[in-house]
Amino acid sequence: MPVSHIMGMHWLRYHSAATDWQHIAAMQYTSVKSFEWCWNNAGYAAELMVAAPNTLHVARDYPLSEQKEGLATDPTGLGRYHADEWAGKVQRGDYKLPIAQSIFLPINEPPCWQYLDGTVKYTVAYLRRMHEHGLRSGVLNLSVGWPGTSPDSNGQPDWRPYAPIEAEMRAGDVLVMHEYGVANDHGWGYWCNRIEHCPWQVPILIGECGIDQAVAGGPHKGWQDFLSPDGYVDWLDAYHAVMSADKRVISLEPFTYDFSHPWGSFDVRPAAAAMERKRWTTGAPTPPPIAILQPPDILPTPIDGVWPVPGGTITGRFGQTYAGATTPHNGLDIGAPEGTPILCVWDGVVAFADYDEGGYGNYIRVWHPAQRVYTFYGHMRDPALWASWQTVKAGQTLGFVGSTGNSTGPHCHFETRTGDEDSYADTTFGYTKGRSNPESILWAHGVDPHTVTLRAKIQGAQA
Ligand SMILES: [Zn+2]
Repeated sequence: MPVSHIMGMHWLRYHSAATDWQHIAAMQYTSVKSFEWCWNNAGYAAELMVAAPNTLHVARDYPLSEQKEGLATDPTGLGRYHADEWAGKVQRGDYKLPIAQSIFLPINEPPCWQYLDGTVKYTVAYLRRMHEHGLRSGVLNLSVGWPGTSPDSNGQPDWRPYAPIEAEMRAGDVLVMHEYGVANDHGWGYWCNRIEHCPWQVPILIGECGIDQAVAGGPHKGWQDFLSPDGYVDWLDAYHAVMSADKRVISLEPFTYDFSHPWGSFDVRPAAAAMERKRWTTGAPTPPPIAILQPPDILPTPIDGVWPVPGGTITGRFGQTYAGATTPHNGLDIGAPEGTPILCVWDGVVAFADYDEGGYGNYIRVWHPAQRVYTFYGHMRDPALWASWQTVKAGQTLGFVGSTGNSTGPHCHFETRTGDEDSYADTTFGYTKGRSNPESILWAHGVDPHTVTLRAKIQGAQA
């Protein structure tokens, strides 16, 4: 069902569950903020892309985001250091989500009331360095109530000291603000909508919002009489209406799943269910946030990998249900003429090479230790050219396109499974044995199927 909203989501691990995928898929959040446990995990990253392909990924790095001391002593050096930290994670392949669809957060809630000058210098240095790396940034992550007021700002937030940051922002960067309701007001009070005083013409993300310490009875007490999950969602809805009216705002990320350690006992999942019941799941489709954000100027060098069927094009995707089938397709079908070579995607070790009665026909399975992924190449023309436990290099020919096994024409059924050697990790999106979307797994390890197939299409049109 199409969705129309600017709701995003925090995704924290404490309450993460199998149903998260369905929830994310149902909501089609415009942004998802995740921490290390998600963005450095190829399987989770791939599943997230499958569940919500248009989501903007808002990446937070916990240790980095908490290093605030340097704001007092060397803010410029700290800003550069943090940008280099992110770039290193991207270049080493630790960051598994698509770069062009991601913003990377600097220090969380910088103590700008204490180090205003340091915060501005830090952020300018961070932005400059991130642009050199070709990465887009979330900017500021200002905590509730900030920017503060000034004696001459008539009690309103004063954005003037932050002007050098706006000047440094480039297309693709996003201003991030945190806002909380004051529960005793039963609504959004003084601490909210401080962006209406912000003169910057930049995309804005509300990186945290919802309820927090203001919950009656003290912080982290959970659902209480005055606030039900449905009431909370009504509350979010009112805030959503205010924020939607400001066309700069691209997403709100309320705490619907969890907050932090102290909230570990606070089961917020009923709010997620209430959100799914809300009108947000009807109406015109949500424009993907990435469509209104420019991609970064420079893309980092991808880790090399090889498209498995040269010249082949995608004829069937992961997750689509073929006519007459009862379950969704669990691989990627790549069509090509019989006899087209099938190439090994990354360096690896052959784990299986034989005829499979179950439908794969002649097929090879390769374990890739560096990526921690198995690749499957099915329906090959010939009996195995390789034996189990032989090492294979990226780009080596594993076999040739055929139509053996359960196949209606020449193609390669290409499958990816994530997990440890000899044990496929469980997945949570209705697929078994670690099966993940091959397009996403390829993307995460340096092979962009869209670029490859587009190139093949263009070459085909020219031929
Ligand atoms: Zn297939």
